[in-house]
Amino acid sequence: MTMSQPVKEPNEKKEILRVQNLKKYFPIKGGVLKRTVGHVKAVDDVSLHIFEGETLGIVGESGSGKSTLGRMMMRLLDPTEGQITFNGVDISTIRQSKIRPLRKDMQMIFQDPYASLNPRMSVGEIIEEPMLIQKTGSSKERQENVISLLERVGLQQEARYKYPHEFSGGQRQRIGIARALSTRPKVIIGDEPVSALDVSVQSQVLNLMEDLQNDFQLTYLFIAHDLSVVKHISDRVAVMYLGRLAEVAPKDDLYANPLHPYTQALISAVPTTDIDEKRERIILQGDLPSPANPPSGCPFHTRCPEAHERCTLERPEMTKMGEEHYVACHLYTQS
Ligand code: SF4
Repeated sequence: MTMSQPVKEPNEKKEILRVQNLKKYFPIKGGVLKRTVGHVKAVDDVSLHIFEGETLGIVGESGSGKSTLGRMMMRLLDPTEGQITFNGVDISTIRQSKIRPLRKDMQMIFQDPYASLNPRMSVGEIIEEPMLIQKTGSSKERQENVISLLERVGLQQEARYKYPHEFSGGQRQRIGIARALSTRPKVIIGDEPVSALDVSVQSQVLNLMEDLQNDFQLTYLFIAHDLSVVKHISDRVAVMYLGRLAEVAPKDDLYANPLHPYTQALISAVPTTDIDEKRERIILQGDLPSPANPPSGCPFHTRCPEAHERCTLERPEMTKMGEEHYVACHLYTQS
């Protein structure tokens, strides 16, 4: 069974975002004439859905395609192929000139809160800017909104007169979150939003994001390379490897019963505080292959301790293994 499921689940969870067979190939130019000599397959045939109000964590190594996937969902990048549906509307091919209403409903938080905040704008201007672009409210209403958002993310209202360099990394990420919230979005895509922060600050920002999710009824797509960060905040987790999905499952199921050998290796590396839990670290051999020249068959076969002949020949399809638990691995399919 593939990942094409009905839009409404029996338990009435409502899908807000779906991608179907999504691909992003970047051309590689070569020779004097700069002809296309190949493609980097950053995202290669990914299908998944996100339910309203949930947090879907997307995990993978650098180069796995997770950020490219997030940027395509925001339509910051055009897909090469495939479909993106937001609230039942196909947004994969809408022109950039028609994208403004979409930006109101979908906002992004970036990894580096300093690089993503304009250093020449005051914090008040930064938070107000998306409302100005969306032509939301009067000047007075926008100012009131700036103040209330600053307070809601744990900053004082005087912060609106200051500039980004006057704040710590954690405070700058709070400003980024306030800006993302200013248009009252339905979905927030966080592209490694806590990766650049100290561990102690990470948990503060994660707790804030969880509180805000309840208050603002947000849906999160949370991109990270660290499974321990995703564990904290996600309802379900999708594991990506070399532009493809390896496994998607509810968080507890994934951590208790990882099926894909790659997920098993990632989880074996997550530190545990449970002294009864004995975990043997699985060390993967070799580096991530180039997405410009991915291995045949299963993209993980060059590093997989369970690889067998079929894995080099045939690409595994996503197979349903339980309630919302899917895996792409020949160990779970019949030849
Ligand atoms: Fe390993 Fe084969 Fe499964 Fe790929 S399909 S993860 S190579 S066992």
